[in-house]
Amino acid sequence: GSHNDDIIIMENVKKRFGDFWALKGITTRVKRQEVVVIIGPSGSGKSTLIRCINHLEKHDEGRIIVDGIELSHDVRNIEAIRREVGMVFQQFNLFPHMTVLDNITLAPRIVRKWPREKAEKLAMELLERVGIADQAHKYPGQLSGGQQQRVAIARALAMQPKIMLFDEPTSALDPEMIKEVLDVMRELARSGMTMVVVTHEMGFAREVADRIIFMDAGQIVEEGTPEHFFTNPRHERTKLFLSQIL
Ligand code: ADP
Ligand code: MG
Repeated sequence: GSHNDDIIIMENVKKRFGDFWALKGITTRVKRQEVVVIIGPSGSGKSTLIRCINHLEKHDEGRIIVDGIELSHDVRNIEAIRREVGMVFQQFNLFPHMTVLDNITLAPRIVRKWPREKAEKLAMELLERVGIADQAHKYPGQLSGGQQQRVAIARALAMQPKIMLFDEPTSALDPEMIKEVLDVMRELARSGMTMVVVTHEMGFAREVADRIIFMDAGQIVEEGTPEHFFTNPRHERTKLFLSQIL
């Protein structure tokens, strides 16, 4: 395919914190509708990598192009990219003093200037989709962790992003909540959303990922299909990591 198929392009991306290089030259591409799972040990740069995609961290070297927009430090580009990229974190980061419905309608109403009625109609459709329409008028503190994370996903989707980034979305959840969040993510993948997911959930990676990237020490060590990873990893570091996590 042409370059147009690549919705995210990273070329030799480097990021440092002081003297420490958290990303040492990342080159990879994500195709439209592709689901990429990033795995790797703690501190390997997974969060830094996905935070660079929507400029929550500024990369120091290399190029990042999202849907044809070069991620420079030009604030107009940053805003344009942030509108296209939804993000879900380990901590749900919901506004505790606002209802579920208001959490979801806030950005569409403020950023896109949608009237309340239009924003609430979309919000209810999204809550339906993530299976918690009946919780719309509650406050986040009244919900379980799994329900809160599903609100966070609905909130990100309310901006109608082209790409969804997930940074360990189930790591803060009790085991019984993990499945309900992964089910929502699985449905999102099936619907054709482009997704980049940092997770330790190897079952999800195996079933849902089109491609898995293994990172270590700020570099991509190995990338390939789940089949490749789980049957025939090439590198010793990959084998060691998989043997520890599986
Ligand atoms: P991962 O998500 O794979 O656990 P991170 O991307 O969070 O790794 O971090 C990669 C490395 O960069 C770690 O060594 C971490 O300590 C360091 N790091 C991340 N964010 C900062 C920061 N804001 N300041 C200094 N060091 C940081
Ligand atoms: Mg992390």
